[in-house]
Amino acid sequence: MTAPLRPQPRPGVLDIAAYVPGKSTAPGVAKVFKLSSNESPLGASPKAIAAYRHCAQHLEDYPDGSATELREAIGRTYGLDPDRIVCGAGSDDILNLLARAYLADGDEAIHTTHGFLVYPIATLGAGAKPVVAAEKNFTADIDAMIKAVTPKTKIVFLANPNNPTGTYVPFDEVKRLHRALPPHVLLVLDAAYAEYVTKNDYESGIELVATSENVVMCRTFSKIHGLAALRLGWLYGPAHVVDALNRIRGPFNVNAPAIAAGAASLADTAHLEKARAHNEKWLGWLTDEISKLGLKVTPSVGNFLLIHFPETPGKTAADADRLLTSKGCVLRAVKAYHLPNALRMSVGTEEANRLVVKTLAEFMSK
Ligand SMILES: *Cc1c(COP(=O)(O)O)cnc(C)c1O
Repeated sequence: MTAPLRPQPRPGVLDIAAYVPGKSTAPGVAKVFKLSSNESPLGASPKAIAAYRHCAQHLEDYPDGSATELREAIGRTYGLDPDRIVCGAGSDDILNLLARAYLADGDEAIHTTHGFLVYPIATLGAGAKPVVAAEKNFTADIDAMIKAVTPKTKIVFLANPNNPTGTYVPFDEVKRLHRALPPHVLLVLDAAYAEYVTKNDYESGIELVATSENVVMCRTFSKIHGLAALRLGWLYGPAHVVDALNRIRGPFNVNAPAIAAGAASLADTAHLEKARAHNEKWLGWLTDEISKLGLKVTPSVGNFLLIHFPETPGKTAADADRLLTSKGCVLRAVKAYHLPNALRMSVGTEEANRLVVKTLAEFMSK
């Protein structure tokens, strides 16, 4: 074998289709409503913004590398041991750390058909193989996930609720999945949208993590907390997983303004409640109004909804996207999620929500 003439990435890296974030512009439109990245229409808590600003006075200092203030605030909020929390630069960071810590060449990691794209990217980046478990009705199918397990499986990723479908799996089903997994397989519960879910049979996974050695739960400050720009997420896991992640994470992977703003945001329960109430009201309204137009909407428990379009030329998702964009409504095309004829819409401000419905009504009546 001849040596390569230039540096070569590890196998898998060049198989990655780089993550394409939701677009944020609508050329030529004065007022743009970005509804493509599930950001909070209410923005961050004023207390979080004040904490962030305060940090500007000491940008010369490294942050606390163990994010103690934040881990303690999370611990207080959720009744968790701060020693079993790892913070990251977004839950992206955490998901990649999990892949790096638990996957090696030839290993497999399972995710579902329309699962969050960071899972296959993190898996391939670690040199392992993403294995897709088919969904049913745009919902994770626990039986298919169990069937996908092989002797090579090391991680099972489950977004609950899932993005971009908005569907969720009742917690009894998650427990059934966990019971079927060999003890050396890590179950990663990604609960990025947990705060929005109002169903009685839903749980984010805290109790399962507390009583197992092979389950972790990931959370984010990017969604209901409205702090996506700061990149902040966290994991609750067994002590041995926390230990492994702390060995490989960047020593200062979470920046000081993120630590301060995150802790302040957790304390502002009134702001969080407002965001939750806004979402509940408008998610229901949007689902009803868009369904009434004759479009299929997948029932969502998150802060976004998946709208399916007819195959008829002139009436497809791409056609709708063009009209919506021309009015300043920027939704998310989800082709990369194997949903070629759907758009994902984040719940926006009242003004944005009404404009989308009005535009879709115009679109359907043409
Ligand atoms: C938005 C989202 C996250 C959060 O990502 P961050 O890196 O924390 O911004 C995680 N998982 C899913 C399924 C998401 O949709």
